[in-house]
Amino acid sequence: KQQTLAVIKPDAMDEHRDVILEEIRGRGFTVTRLKETVLSREMAEEFYKEHREKPFFSQLVDFMCRGPCMMLVLTKENAVEEWRALMGPTDPQKAKETSPESLRARFAADVLHNSVHGSSSEQHAEEKIRFIFGDISTE
Ligand code: ATP
Ligand code: MG
Repeated sequence: KQQTLAVIKPDAMDEHRDVILEEIRGRGFTVTRLKETVLSREMAEEFYKEHREKPFFSQLVDFMCRGPCMMLVLTKENAVEEWRALMGPTDPQKAKETSPESLRARFAADVLHNSVHGSSSEQHAEEKIRFIFGDISTE
């Protein structure tokens, strides 16, 4: 089965964490790793390094290290794509139009504060899981 990295972002931790976890399990994902972490600035910068040149990068880093995140490894057939589908589009405004059941449609405030992260490819998933959890590839 495939693994992906899911993150419950700081904006969703206080009010929506439990319902997001319920939704994840209800949709048939197995949570194989889970930890709460406050990212340092350096870690947040490294985590989103692909977006270093974007105009929103410093806001994104500020946001991601402002409080605890929940880091999860999700295992399921086609986990990468299925988790992205459950999250919905990056911008919750668009999510409300195209996938009102999605997590971002339900919980996100705006395109920056959008409640959840998910790896965008299997290769990305492997890299980010190793970055957050260390080497668990043999499990
Ligand atoms: P993620 O990588 O967090 O799962 P994503 O793949 O849907 O989200 P990306 O394009 O990778 O979207 O952007 C990474 C994150 O940067 C977004 O989830 C959001 O928090 C922030 N972001 C993206 N676009 C914007 C924007 N135009 N303005 C502000 N923040 C943005
Ligand atoms: Mg992304």
